[in-house]
Amino acid sequence: MTDWQEERDPADDAWRVRLRMDRVLHRQKTEFQDLVLFENAQFGRVLALDGIVQTTERDEFIYHEMLVHVPVLAHGGVKRALIVGGGDGGALEELLKHRTVQHVTMVEIDAGVVEFARQHLRAICGDAFEDPRFTLEIADGLAWAQEADQRFDLIVVDSTDPVEGPGQVLFTETFYRACAARLNDGGVLVTQNAVPFFNPEFLSEPVQALRAAFHHVAAYRAAVPSFYGGDMVYALATDRADLLSVSEDVLADRLTASGLITRHYTPAVHRGAFALPPWMAEMIS
Ligand code: SAM
Repeated sequence: MTDWQEERDPADDAWRVRLRMDRVLHRQKTEFQDLVLFENAQFGRVLALDGIVQTTERDEFIYHEMLVHVPVLAHGGVKRALIVGGGDGGALEELLKHRTVQHVTMVEIDAGVVEFARQHLRAICGDAFEDPRFTLEIADGLAWAQEADQRFDLIVVDSTDPVEGPGQVLFTETFYRACAARLNDGGVLVTQNAVPFFNPEFLSEPVQALRAAFHHVAAYRAAVPSFYGGDMVYALATDRADLLSVSEDVLADRLTASGLITRHYTPAVHRGAFALPPWMAEMIS
């Protein structure tokens, strides 16, 4: 009997998308979430949490390159970074490609996600979890950000969506203020804000909360095939205005200096991603 992983419209079940599970590698109810890891002929290995696709081997490069290289190359001097969530290791792997990055701390609530990523998602995380520049903290991101005293140049919030579950607290003004206090002068915060066509509130409400904690907030977009519904969006927040208007030439020089080979990110894609169509721009106006 064919097994399907089904994602459905949380509002009124108006749509359902199914991925065939050709081989289930692991299925477990962790302390926090329903975790399933499976193989699909189109997307390769897929991680789903609470029935929602988190990452796939085939399209993760789009999501993670835009989540990481946009803020890193816009900032131009990231040495210490914090990842909140990100247990699949994809954002960590992209960050550690930057030789100028001296240390990355990951605060992930669910040790089970990291464990299974290490075992089954090497195509996404590579050897990033073994990098000497890396420290893992298993904790709730909000509590950790409120109690910690370390400072960072970049905070990447690679969380689950703000639906019922542990990720909700990571879309609040309280969390963003705690993050602002963890940033060095000129630091930058980036968040994933899901797919606005289906969930405009996952962008509009967090952006309002970000504006209470930061002087400058912008959104940028990318189409990730396994995040159904068109473009997904990211929010970028900082107190440094220039960080939101770095020229393509400067980005190109920084990319060349980094020695990175990217499959999706380019300086032109970076700049173009901030050009939001009116229906999306009005969500953050
Ligand atoms: N790319 C995915 C997306 O856009 O939906 C996110 C992937 S990543 C696997 C999400 C991670 O956030 C999960 O491993 C989950 O355990 C973690 N997470 C959720 N709530 C958290 C919290 N309050 N503190 C720390 N990590 C959290």
